[in-house]
Amino acid sequence: MAQTTLAAAGGLALGERAWSGEGAQSAARPVLASTWGFGQQANEAALKIMQQGGSTLDAVEQGIWVTEADLSNSSVGIGGTPNAEGVVQLDACIMWGPGHKAGSVAALEGIAHPISAARRVMEKTSHVMLVGEGARQFALAQGLETAQMPTEERRQAWLRWRAEQEERKKAQGHDTIALLVLDAEGHLAGGCSTSGRGYKLPGRVGDSPILGSGLYVDEEVGAAGATGIGENIMRYCGSFLAVEYMRQGLHPQEACAEVVRRIAKSEGRADLSINFVALDKAGRHGAAGTDEGFQYALTTPEESGVRTPLRAP
Ligand code: ASP
Repeated sequence: MAQTTLAAAGGLALGERAWSGEGAQSAARPVLASTWGFGQQANEAALKIMQQGGSTLDAVEQGIWVTEADLSNSSVGIGGTPNAEGVVQLDACIMWGPGHKAGSVAALEGIAHPISAARRVMEKTSHVMLVGEGARQFALAQGLETAQMPTEERRQAWLRWRAEQEERKKAQGHDTIALLVLDAEGHLAGGCSTSGRGYKLPGRVGDSPILGSGLYVDEEVGAAGATGIGENIMRYCGSFLAVEYMRQGLHPQEACAEVVRRIAKSEGRADLSINFVALDKAGRHGAAGTDEGFQYALTTPEESGVRTPLRAP
């Protein structure tokens, strides 16, 4: 598999081509697209699962495991940043195109892989979403792995934050993984996992575990996922909107950009920290966002790399 950083040189030109709807399409299957550069590792792990005969949902789940287990990642899983009280509360959801199935957990404490809890909610219950202590008890009953959180590094950072409130802004880092898959059979799936905004109020839930906000999968059309300030995404059902724009015929890149423009117009400002990645039924993919450093990772059996989309609006 070629390891490339597709956007490192001439990223804007690449983005411009994609922007106009040309390019940004993969004929190879499966196609995996996810948020941020760190998504590449998750994509590649997910691809491997499928190439070894694993199911698409196994691929989504276990791809996201990689990010959740990465202690250096301060916004997803075990290495996640705690809330204002020093407690790590994790959010995740998963969707499977066929049958429009979904599962979600929010404000989940002490469970290493919230994406697995979300999948169990989808597969083992008649519900769609479990939160807080109920979600934790369910995950424990399912035998899911526990983990000590926050890590010592995050705890020290939280202690510093608490002592020095002026660090608050800097420390409110956030970077969710949303991973989308179009598999070899043409089925769509996606997963999303985050520790949410750093030092959030206890009980705060953002867009990530909310179907249609942090993730949306429509078997007929495509899938979209989000990262950024959840409060600016969930009031607009951002991922659902991106899929609906694709349904109207927009290229995934334009669909993402249109969501960003629409939210920015309504909010009356552009500095919203809202970023989207999308993948359609034809294998076309793209992303757009307001954050300067926003990237998405794209993996197929033929290529794997990180792309920098044009900034929108
Ligand atoms: N969207 C996530 C949240 O608001 C955070 C992020 O993507 O960085 O919880």
